[in-house]
Amino acid sequence: MQDPRESQRRPSAQGSRIDPYVGSYAARAQGMVASEVRALFAVASRPEVVSLAGGMPNVGALPMDDIGRIVWQVVAEQGSTALQYGSAQGDPVLREHICEVMGEEGIDAAADDVIVTVGSQQALDLVTRVFVDPGDVVLCEAPTYVTAINTFAAFQADVRHVEMDDDGVVPEALDESLRRMAAEGRRVKFFYTIPNFHNPAGVTLSAERRTRVLEICRRHGLLVLEDNPYGLLRYDGEAVPPLRSQAPDNVIYLGSFSKTLSPGFRIGWALAPAAVRAKLVLAAESAMLSHSTFNQMVVRRYLTAHAWREQIKNFNEMYRERRDAMLGALDALMPAGTTWTRPDGGFFVWVTLPEGLDAKAMLPRAVNERVAYVPGTGFYASDEGRRNMRLSFCYPTSDQIREGVRRLVGVIEGETEL
Ligand code: PMP
Repeated sequence: MQDPRESQRRPSAQGSRIDPYVGSYAARAQGMVASEVRALFAVASRPEVVSLAGGMPNVGALPMDDIGRIVWQVVAEQGSTALQYGSAQGDPVLREHICEVMGEEGIDAAADDVIVTVGSQQALDLVTRVFVDPGDVVLCEAPTYVTAINTFAAFQADVRHVEMDDDGVVPEALDESLRRMAAEGRRVKFFYTIPNFHNPAGVTLSAERRTRVLEICRRHGLLVLEDNPYGLLRYDGEAVPPLRSQAPDNVIYLGSFSKTLSPGFRIGWALAPAAVRAKLVLAAESAMLSHSTFNQMVVRRYLTAHAWREQIKNFNEMYRERRDAMLGALDALMPAGTTWTRPDGGFFVWVTLPEGLDAKAMLPRAVNERVAYVPGTGFYASDEGRRNMRLSFCYPTSDQIREGVRRLVGVIEGETEL
């Protein structure tokens, strides 16, 4: 919060605190506002606070010496290429490797149909840029990934949610939404889904529902945007084939190295039907000219020089233990009337508090008790999610997770006694 005395102390030397350009921004910039809970997260990053809030992968578990050697080799052996401009579609050899990575999940793709992006976040931006006019409807799950909502909103999309349960999006609800939109004469541009280990809900779309979702989308002539950054981080059960593997012409598939290697390289990708891919490349060119050739060459070398499948197995063992620590603590301690999802992979558990509680209002008290989470309201474009919170188990250790849940339960019990 701004201290009102601040402007009196330094009247005009720094210019006015009131933004002089406020009347000049494009309409699309009006929806770009910092999240209300951001200030609290600054507090939440203090060492005494157990943060169950952020979704940061545990990069400390990476083989740092090996990666250091790879970085050095890239400079020493391929420096004149690695330090030069590259293309907006991305390094062709890296794109071959990306096809190999997608092959692990049953996707059969050609490197030509892949575009490298600055994390899958840039792919979300490019797809929206290419497809969405102001007022177009984008359908997504209820709840959904907060930064996807922000991206859609930045292009003035009308973001509508579709009901979800423990098996992912409810196909009948999707069908009903599409019928309603058609009856209202609305243009729906795509259905955005996170089918595996959903962020924030933690659930996975069942195989049977995947087929039905694709059938419904095909019937309504609707494109599917499948966002799958967590798919390889599975701790239990059988993998479910991606939507893209069943419907190559109706799905834009997004992947990322952020969770299976490191978000620091900022390398993700989109796999799209050829005509769409061509548009995405043109949009990427005007957004950033070319990718970091250097980062791509480091990742490319890592994928050849390092046993990356083993590394993912190591991550999965670590995250499985942390997931179990969280579910075990929730089972043992949470008061009656509170429910939560049981993820088979990924980073997140979605908690629903008893009727009458408000996770957002409770957050300052939780931070006071040295535990942080993300209130559910941020994961909706509408006014929902008050009774919800997202808990992450990726970054804190198992002991910290148990302690964090213990503190959280104290806060919830304190609320119910009020
Ligand atoms: N989609 C989802 C569902 C995510 O959870 C994230 C990261 N939190 C992203 C996309 C963006 O990831 P990145 O840009 O690092 O690939």
